[in-house]
Amino acid sequence: MGQMMNQPLLISSIVEFASRHNGGSEIVSRRVEGDMHRYTFRECHQRSRRLANALQGLGVKMGDRVATLAWNGYRHLEAYYAVSGSGAVLHTINPRLHPEQVAYIINHAEDQLLFFDLTFLPAIEAVAAHCKMIKGYVLMTDRAHMPADSKIPDLMCYEDLINSHSDDYTWPQFDENSAATLCYTSGTTGNPKGALYSHRSTVLHAYASALPNALNVTSHDTVLPVVPMFHVNAWGLPYSVPLTGARMVFPGPALDGKSLYELFESEGVTMSAGVPTVWLGLINYALQNKLKFSTFRRTVIGGSACPPAMMNTLIDEFGVEVVHAWGMTEMSPLGTACVLSSKHKAMPQDEQRKILQKQGHAIFGVDMKIVDDDGKELPWDGVGYGHLLVKGPWIISSYFKGEGGDVLQDGWFPTGDVATIDSDGYMQITDRSKDVIKSGGEWIGTIDLENIAMAHPAVMQAACIGIYHPKWDERPLLIVVRRPGQEVSREELLAFYEGKIAKWWTPDDVVFADALPLGATGKVQKNKLRDHYKDHKLPTA
Ligand code: ADP
Repeated sequence: MGQMMNQPLLISSIVEFASRHNGGSEIVSRRVEGDMHRYTFRECHQRSRRLANALQGLGVKMGDRVATLAWNGYRHLEAYYAVSGSGAVLHTINPRLHPEQVAYIINHAEDQLLFFDLTFLPAIEAVAAHCKMIKGYVLMTDRAHMPADSKIPDLMCYEDLINSHSDDYTWPQFDENSAATLCYTSGTTGNPKGALYSHRSTVLHAYASALPNALNVTSHDTVLPVVPMFHVNAWGLPYSVPLTGARMVFPGPALDGKSLYELFESEGVTMSAGVPTVWLGLINYALQNKLKFSTFRRTVIGGSACPPAMMNTLIDEFGVEVVHAWGMTEMSPLGTACVLSSKHKAMPQDEQRKILQKQGHAIFGVDMKIVDDDGKELPWDGVGYGHLLVKGPWIISSYFKGEGGDVLQDGWFPTGDVATIDSDGYMQITDRSKDVIKSGGEWIGTIDLENIAMAHPAVMQAACIGIYHPKWDERPLLIVVRRPGQEVSREELLAFYEGKIAKWWTPDDVVFADALPLGATGKVQKNKLRDHYKDHKLPTA
C-alpha cells in the first residue's frame, strides 16, 4: 500500500484553499439590486461558514437537499460552498424552466429549503403552494430590499440569516463519494432527470477542467462565467477558478450584449464561457457599435455547436481565442475541449480552423468511443460517424432516484450524440441522434447544414429539421432568422450550399422566421420547430 495521507476530496477544501492561499483574490458581482459588490475569497469563505451555521440552525442535515433559484453572484457562490461543504446537497434550479417543471423538480428532489433571488419572487409565489416539502424560503437580499408583504409565509432574509450566525464553523470530513450537488437535465422529452454529483466527482472535474488543454484557468485570469450557475454548475467554474487564484466576475441577471460588454471592459475580464446564443448578443453589440475588447483573450463555447462564422468573428475581428468544448449535464459537464496540438500548429490557417471547429480532445478522466447500431466500436478515421459513448469518474452511473432505469451500456454512458473521432483523438459532433435527418436510409447531420447557412452574411440564426417526405422519409427544411435590415431569398440561400456539401444534403426548402424557440439552456428547441412545421409541404421537384 502507498503511504500517503488519505484525505477525502471535498468541495469545502476548495474554498478553504482559496481563502488561505489566494485569500486576497477578488470576487466582483453585479447584483440583482442593481449595484456592484466586491469582496475577496477570504470574505467569501467567512460568509460561507456563517451560512453553514445558519443551515445547521434551520435543521438541515447531511444529504438533505437545499435548492437555489439564482443568477451568478457572490451569494449564490456562498450557497455553493455552505450547502455542499456542510454535507447537504445543493440543488440548482433553472429558472427558465416552465413553472410546472420547476414545481416538479422541487418535489422530486424533496428540497427542504429554497434560496432565491429577488427576480424570482413572483415565480416562487406562484409555485410555493405546490411545493409541500419546503420548510423555509430565503430571499437572497438584504433587509432594505425585502418585500413589505409576500404570499410566502415566514420569508427569511439572506443577510439577516448570515448576520445572526457566527463564522466559527469547521467543515465536516466525510466520505468523498457523498452526494454534493444535484442538477436536472432540461427534459426536452419527458420529465427532467437529476444528475447527482459527488464531492469526489466535482473536485476531480475541477482539477481536470482547469488544465491548460482544457479551460486553461490561471492566477493571471479574470474569469466571467456567462454560463449560469444553474446550468450544470456553470460548467464547474465556481470550483475550478478558486483552485487557481484567478479573479471572478459575476454578471447577475444582465446578460444582454451591452451589459456584458461594459462589464468585460470595466473589470478587465480575460476569460469567459457560455453558449453560442449569448455570444451572438455580445458580438452583435460590439460590431454594431464598432467596439473592441481591451483585455478579453479567450472564451469557451459549448452547450451547442459553435457556428464557424461566430468563431471566425471572435478570432479575426476581436482577437479572442475560442475553445470549443463539449459535454452534458450527465458529465458534470466537461468531456472534450478543442485546443490545437503541436502537429496542428504547422498547418495552414484554414486547416487549423477546421480542427478548431471540432468539439475537441478528451480531457484526462474521460474516455470515449463511437459505435454502430449494433454496439460495435467504429474506427477513429474522422469520417465514419456513430453513437458517442463515454465513461469516467464524473459521468453519471444512474439518474437520481433511478429514473430511467439502467442507463449504462457495458459500463459506458450513451450520450445521445452522433460523432466522428479522428486519428488524433479529436471528436466532432454530427448531430444529436434525435435530430439527425434520415433521408432514404442515409443520415444527414443538421449541424453542418446550419453552419453553412450561418456563414451567409444576411443570416443571424439557422436551424434545420427533418420534414416528412413520401419518397425519402425525411428531407431537410431550413429555418432562418435574417439579420435586422438584411434581405436574402430562399433561392439565394439554396444556391449558397452549392459546392459546400454533397448535393443530396442540400435542404429542400427554406422558411423565414422572426426568432427561433430557445430552451432553458439557450439551445434551439427542435422539437417545437418539428411540431410547428409538421404540415409544411416541401416543393416537389
Ligand atoms: P440537455 O441535455 O438537458 O439539453 P445539456 O446542457 O446537458 O442539456 O446538453 C448536452 C447536449 O448538448 C450534448 O449531448 C450535445 O448534444 C449538446 N452539446 C453540448 N456541447 C456541444 C457542442 N460544443 N457542440 C454540439 N453540441 C453540443
